[in-house]
Amino acid sequence: MPLISKPELEDPLLFTQRLLALDTTNPPGREGPAVDALADSLQEAGFQVTRQPWGEARGNLLAELPGSTSQPPLILSGHIDTVPLANAPWSKDPFAGEVEHGAVYGRGSSDMKAGIAVMICAAWGLAARKSLNRTIRVVLTSGEETGCLGALELQKSLPLGNVSGILIAEPTSNYPALGHKGALFLRCRTAGVTAHSSMPEEGRNAIYKAARAITGIENFRFNSQPHPLLGSPTLNVGMIAGGLNVNSVPDKAEFTVDVRSVRGMDHAEVLQSLQKQMGSDVTLEPFVSLGAVATDHKNPFVQLVFSVMQEVLASPIEPRALPFFTDGSVFSQNSAAPIVVLGPGDPKMAHKTDEYCRVDKIYEAQQCYLRILQEWCA
Ligand SMILES: [Zn+2]
Repeated sequence: MPLISKPELEDPLLFTQRLLALDTTNPPGREGPAVDALADSLQEAGFQVTRQPWGEARGNLLAELPGSTSQPPLILSGHIDTVPLANAPWSKDPFAGEVEHGAVYGRGSSDMKAGIAVMICAAWGLAARKSLNRTIRVVLTSGEETGCLGALELQKSLPLGNVSGILIAEPTSNYPALGHKGALFLRCRTAGVTAHSSMPEEGRNAIYKAARAITGIENFRFNSQPHPLLGSPTLNVGMIAGGLNVNSVPDKAEFTVDVRSVRGMDHAEVLQSLQKQMGSDVTLEPFVSLGAVATDHKNPFVQLVFSVMQEVLASPIEPRALPFFTDGSVFSQNSAAPIVVLGPGDPKMAHKTDEYCRVDKIYEAQQCYLRILQEWCA
């Protein structure tokens, strides 16, 4: 029996429950079997499917409903991986998709399996009733939670090309968001010389070097103006480690820096000025570098999304940004298409124990996605 068949394609709650049953926690990030199961089902349902295996048992998936004209396609995108369960015990089975008090529970329910279900149900539902004049392309990635790794792989061999708009169904409680900051993660290392701690003058202390560097960047001033949508860049030191034992002068120390950048900032320049501030005692190694996303709210596609969503949201929609990054960082590097992040999940539920997604938000999102697709693609 296929993972997804007609009942799931018609009902995004059932679809979400099927996706929740697939363990795609990352790490370890072995999303491949889930991607394959989804690919087989979507192919059977009439999508034109392209798989992109990468890494060890990982993969991305493109599932297309072709339109009758050559107008640039619309992209619907989501990541299939979830964060791990963490240590605290769950009160529900995180893979069973239990529904209680109007919410479906499970790891990835809000972030972002309900979002994926909604997008695919809406696209399939529209294509079943109407002929499309614009192609709808569903792009599913893996490895997003650890730095958009799948999206980066996708860019290598299956670049997005010329597209008319990108919707990413990350959790926003159905409020359309127009961007987010970028991220630059750095590993910073210092070296010293060991000696007996009773004779510290014989050694060189790597922890002191790290400490001086860290306090030196606590109030680091970025060379940038606040962005109207994204605000100001931030910096945080998140992890620190070093030393051997209590009675030795440490010869190595390591800490991490997380910079959240705004549109217009060049990460190479940020790296250079941090290096200058910390001095030659510290070696900096970037391990994630993702650009910021900021879509102009006056764009016609954004205006369409706003007008559809305004009907279900109580207060007037304003251009808003998200606190977290998405695969949009990678897409925006090679495409000028407007990016809107819009999904039924609750952003406050993301990565939490007993994560859930409200069922009414799932059906509301399905209806809204259907209307957006109908206006833009049919
Ligand atoms: Zn997410």
